[in-house]
Amino acid sequence: MNFDFLALGAHPDDIELGCAGTLIKLARLGYRTAAITLTRGESGTRGTPEIRAREFELAAQHMLLTHSRMLDLPDAAIAETQLNKLKLVQVMRELRPQLVATVHWQARHPDHIHTSHLVRDAAMLAGLKNLDMKPLREATRSAAERNAIETTPAWYPRRVLFFPERYEAPISFIVDITDAFEQKMAAIRAHESQFYNANMAQYGDEQTSISRPEFLEFIEHQNQRWGDMIGVKYGEAFYLREAVRLDDPIAAFGEWCEHTFP
Ligand SMILES: [Zn+2]
Repeated sequence: MNFDFLALGAHPDDIELGCAGTLIKLARLGYRTAAITLTRGESGTRGTPEIRAREFELAAQHMLLTHSRMLDLPDAAIAETQLNKLKLVQVMRELRPQLVATVHWQARHPDHIHTSHLVRDAAMLAGLKNLDMKPLREATRSAAERNAIETTPAWYPRRVLFFPERYEAPISFIVDITDAFEQKMAAIRAHESQFYNANMAQYGDEQTSISRPEFLEFIEHQNQRWGDMIGVKYGEAFYLREAVRLDDPIAAFGEWCEHTFP
């Protein structure tokens, strides 16, 4: 399965908030995109695992994904173990993504910090031909899956992109998501148990920091702010650890100059 873009989040709704616009834009351009959550979000204050799985499925449709899946790491207890790294290595080897995106490690939720580190490490380890996969093989019950672990070849994603959330993080580039913004918000609103909407009382009366009406406004403002930085209406920001190689800076920045106001 050769994928172009694989987004990984800790919980259902992380990917939607951070890079749904980019996923939608890439899918419309004909790229094969995937979104995978490490947990099922079972420790969240609102919603149940069943509700959250349904919401993630609906959001996946809005994001025009070729593939989506939830892994079984424990919510609120994601640990940076070798076994968890190998689980992500296997996912990357199976999907063979060109680019991988995940949450930036400057985050409030410890699951997000650990997800960021696990994805960073797995993207490196996935390319090592002689990586010892034994801990994952031994933890896998199905014979077919054990066989797949043995036989799936090594794969290096080209880059890991990190998308910032609440906290300030450096930005390497911003994707213009103006044409995808409404659909991004539909993907976010698919998580009816999590974010403010008219039906939310049926999911309980406990409020969280993301169930307030202001939170969706904050997401819109954040995407507007990033859009403003590149001279468009809405944008999504990404951070790269590596420097970007340019052979022709004039060509690379030509379009960017048209959109900015020096
Ligand atoms: Zn999360």
